[in-house]
This record gives sequence, C-alpha cells and structure tokens, in this order.
Amino acid sequence: MDFERSSPRSAALAFMRGTKAPWGTAELLEWINEHLLRPDRITLAPGSRVLEVFEPDAGTLSLECNSFPPGRVAPLPAARPVIALARERVLQRLRAMVEHGHMSFVHAALYQQRLVRCKSPSTGSQVWCVRFKEDTCLSDQILALFAADAMESPDDYEHRFGVCRICDEVHFQATVDVLRVGCEAHPLGVLHEGPIAQRNPTVPEMSAVRPGRRK
Ligand SMILES: [Zn+2]
Repeated sequence: MDFERSSPRSAALAFMRGTKAPWGTAELLEWINEHLLRPDRITLAPGSRVLEVFEPDAGTLSLECNSFPPGRVAPLPAARPVIALARERVLQRLRAMVEHGHMSFVHAALYQQRLVRCKSPSTGSQVWCVRFKEDTCLSDQILALFAADAMESPDDYEHRFGVCRICDEVHFQATVDVLRVGCEAHPLGVLHEGPIAQRNPTVPEMSAVRPGRRK
C-alpha cells in the first residue's frame, strides 16, 4: 500500500474533487479501495470488507454488488443522496473554518477518537492519522481526513486552504492568504465583481448573490 499517495490530504481531496460530478457506487467503491481500505485507517471485522456506507438523513447505501443484478452496482439515484449530503456537510464545515475560523470538525474527530496519533509506516515517526469503524458516517470520514491533515499542516489550513463560494472548489494555494473564498476561475468568490458592484452595491442582482449560491 502506498502510504504517501494515500495521505489524508490526497484522500480527502480525491473525494471532494471527484464528487463535483455525481458519483455512483462504482466511483465510491474505487475511492474506498484506494484510500480507506488500509489496516491503519479503517477497522473491519476479520475477513470483512466495507459493505455499506451511511449518512444521517440520507440513509444507507449498500456496496454489495450481489444485491444488484450481475455486473451492476447501485445506480446513480440510489447513491446520490448519501454521497451528495456527505459532500454538502463537509463543505459547510470547511467553509466555517475558512470564513470564521471554526475548527469544530477537528475537535469532534479528536473527541470521538477518529483522529489519533500513530506511527507513520513510511518514516516511523509519530503522525496524526484517522481511525474509522464501519459505522462511521461518510461525512465524518472525510472530515476526519481533513482534520488529520490540518493537525499535521496547521499553517496550510490557516493561510493556504480555500473553498470557492461559487463552484465549491476545494484547494491549497502556493501563495498565502489568496483565493480563500474563491478559486482561479472566481478570484473574489463572487459571481460579478468590479465597477458595477462598487458603484451601486444594492442593485438587486448583486444583493441576491450570497455565499454558497451556485451558478
Ligand atoms: Zn470557483
């Protein structure tokens, strides 16, 4: 298993970037296989594998292929609520951190022991890592991955991490304190910035633009 390739950061970003386009169970299974199925990341009963994921208010998504016709996995409509709601919850927590400094997801992961100190398989040094059980909901898994990365690289989360208000792009910038509420395509995190907004900030179409509003 490639520890570096599947760092908490790469695992969390792979989920957030991948799910910008709707995922079905095939994509989710691929992500789980690449990023979660490691003895140091998820605790399964002996001989077991991840059979389902759940998200509060969205239900449980079976990952058992044999619960569907041969050769098929759950179609998009079945997978969408669980994955979409998990993604939305993660975005809310990340935005609260970027815009208000709220680190509640880190505290929750520590308190509920999803975030622990362990020995890095590659370097042998003590690092922050995640510990899931099968009943950890999907959004808590993603948030714990971000929390482990934030504990390892606090400066990155204080100055380089951003979530675009317009397109939900989650990213790290090489330059500190830029694009934290925007992205390369939406540098200020608003749909229309510039002279019109500055001249008359109360024009209806501008006042209708709120953080989190999609295109
Ligand atoms: Zn954007």
